[in-house]
Amino acid sequence: MLVFKFGGASVKDAAGIVNLAQIVKKYSHQKLLIVVSAMGKTTNALEKLTKAYVDGSENLNAIYAEVKEYHHHILTELFEPSHPIFNQIANTFVEIDWMIEEEPHDDYDFVYDQIVSIGELVSTRIVAAYLNQTGIKTQWLDVRGYIHTDNNYREGNVDWNKTRANIQQDIPALLDKGMVVTQGFLGGTSENFTTTLGREGSDYTASIFAACLDAESVTTWKDVPGILNADPKFFDDTIKFDELSYAEAIEMTYYGASVIHPKTIKPLQNAKIPLLVKSFTDPDAEGTIIKETAVANFKKPVIILKQNQVLLSLSARDYSFISEDHLSDIFKLFSQNQVKVNVMQTSALSFTVCFDLYPERFEKLLSGLSSNFKVRYNDNLTLITVRHYKVSALKELTDDKIVLLEQISRNTAQVVVK
Ligand code: ASP
Ligand code: MG
Repeated sequence: MLVFKFGGASVKDAAGIVNLAQIVKKYSHQKLLIVVSAMGKTTNALEKLTKAYVDGSENLNAIYAEVKEYHHHILTELFEPSHPIFNQIANTFVEIDWMIEEEPHDDYDFVYDQIVSIGELVSTRIVAAYLNQTGIKTQWLDVRGYIHTDNNYREGNVDWNKTRANIQQDIPALLDKGMVVTQGFLGGTSENFTTTLGREGSDYTASIFAACLDAESVTTWKDVPGILNADPKFFDDTIKFDELSYAEAIEMTYYGASVIHPKTIKPLQNAKIPLLVKSFTDPDAEGTIIKETAVANFKKPVIILKQNQVLLSLSARDYSFISEDHLSDIFKLFSQNQVKVNVMQTSALSFTVCFDLYPERFEKLLSGLSSNFKVRYNDNLTLITVRHYKVSALKELTDDKIVLLEQISRNTAQVVVK
């Protein structure tokens, strides 16, 4: 069996859904499970909606109306007005209506997951209905009954034993009857609440299903021809890799390459399932294959940009050395506040770390650190990671920028710049 994943960009409008149907039609003789994200920028819009609701902002209704109108417009382009899908979508949105009538629950992340998940519930209903309408027999599956997580809202941790048992029990028989369309990014708790797996988590969903069902491969359909050495939004003359090893792909996602969700590769690597990254606008082109042993040709270095970085330096108030005890206290605070370190460096008197800015987490971290350390920081920085670098190319990248921190190992160079 095969697992396909279609991200938001691939289903951003009616034409995208028609294109998706054309792609999967070519595989109709195969067993196929299709994971779909929310349409276009819906997740961002629902994030805004959640914030507006919790803040009691007057923009709430306008944001909500826009989300509904966007989906309604797509529906009118794909279906006759009498099609039951119109009602189904209205009923799915009703969950948000009920929610926002009440006072917000005090756990923001809980509220977030209950609202933001509607994006995937709606998109998969639309895709499944459209595939059925075009004659591709398709079943819609509520993923929340299959991917079990703890109640760590917004970053649910998958309970693999439960998840595997449920998937293996039901999904093979469903795949015998036709294609299965399900939501990326979502999970369910044992109390039947909805969780999400972290932004861009649909790739991870695809890899969970593939690992549990021992799929032949996972294909993620993208708006790029495969994995490129750099983001074409920022660089000209990018090259595509035909093959990459799991290890290289893990390194790339670790440093912030946004083509694949960081948690995606491990389950595939453990089960030796290849991951194909292909273009939904050129579906017959080869794309990139990620597998155990790959002949990667690093003619050009891999360049990964991470924006919105903070570089923070700590030193002890009494000028003592930064000791292992200090480091242990510091890391405890980072971990408690869910701030992940991207680069770090120590000197005798200071410890410097670079991380992504999440304002609420950052505030809490700062207040924790400030009680024991002198803290200085810069924000709005960019972390450039270059794998398989050449010194000359590195120079070129940073020439016109102010370098605040540099760290170089055999394969990887990291520079924090202003
Ligand atoms: N819709 C979610 C997001 O935009 C999940 C995904 O696209 O993978 O983050
Ligand atoms: Mg997406």
